[in-house]
Amino acid sequence: MKAAVLYGPNQVEIREVSAPTLPQDGEVIANVEYVGVCKTDQQLTAAGLDSERILGHEVVCQLPDEQGHFALNNEISCGQCSYCREGLTSHCQNLQELGVNHDGGYAEKIRVPRNSLHRFEFRNPALGVLIEPLSCAVRGAQRILAGANLLSVSRPTTLVIGGGLSGALISYLLTNSPNFDGEIKLYDITKMPIPWAEKLGIERVEVPEKDKAHLVVECSGSPGGLTTALQVVRKAGIVFIYGVPKQGIALPVSPHELFMREIAVLTSFAGATDETMGRAIAHIKRDEAFFEQLLGRAIPLEKLPDELTNWSPQPGTRTVVDMCP
Ligand SMILES: [Zn+2]
Ligand SMILES: [Zn+2]
Repeated sequence: MKAAVLYGPNQVEIREVSAPTLPQDGEVIANVEYVGVCKTDQQLTAAGLDSERILGHEVVCQLPDEQGHFALNNEISCGQCSYCREGLTSHCQNLQELGVNHDGGYAEKIRVPRNSLHRFEFRNPALGVLIEPLSCAVRGAQRILAGANLLSVSRPTTLVIGGGLSGALISYLLTNSPNFDGEIKLYDITKMPIPWAEKLGIERVEVPEKDKAHLVVECSGSPGGLTTALQVVRKAGIVFIYGVPKQGIALPVSPHELFMREIAVLTSFAGATDETMGRAIAHIKRDEAFFEQLLGRAIPLEKLPDELTNWSPQPGTRTVVDMCP
């Protein structure tokens, strides 16, 4: 079968590889239809991995013996360790992540546990690539809302930094949450239009003002975004790190300053579970038109190596690999 193989830092090529065979108990071999191209893929590509790997973790697939389209929860947790027993499956001590430390979806076929697949019915099945990232955002939004209890106001002025897919999904969930009543503004370094923000009625700021936002949600994953977040947040406010920060970057603030300004720094890591996958499917089902605009370019697998090494999605959208164009 055809697959995109990462074989070194910034080295990806399309190869003919042997298709997965011999599924173990509970596993199935699925036919990949669509895969979302995630910033995590680009970061893994830039860094390289210890061995050759097929990336791709935002996967929509079909099964030979069952009708319908399925989204993959790529996190396979053991269910036994102390983290799994607390429901923190992303922190499983035996975590296997398809498309990260095991082969993923940038291939014609993928071997997966059947119970990691979640069936959905959308008018446009390519929307299924948003289920995994939205599922992680569901957990992110839950943690943001829990953290907001620390604030001195019930309607926090909120700044989202980064208008990419993460910023879109978090903003959508907060805007649609009955438990969030704050005003959201968006800051993004691009001057290009960001259609999802307009749809949600979120105003963009050209330069974030200091001491305005009680809550700043950093969704860009860039060192500049994190620096801005920590500079502008109000005293006794919250900086929530949602965009994945690059490895090796220090927090650009001293503990003394954090303490004196009483800033809480909170984070959210992954979080695709049966529950969050189900919620993500329900959100998209209810509001396909909103999520449709988050789908960016559709590319064939052959174009993926270039996409991963020259990261350039249309602002605020997810590029999708269409395996059967
Ligand atoms: Zn992702
Ligand atoms: Zn575990």
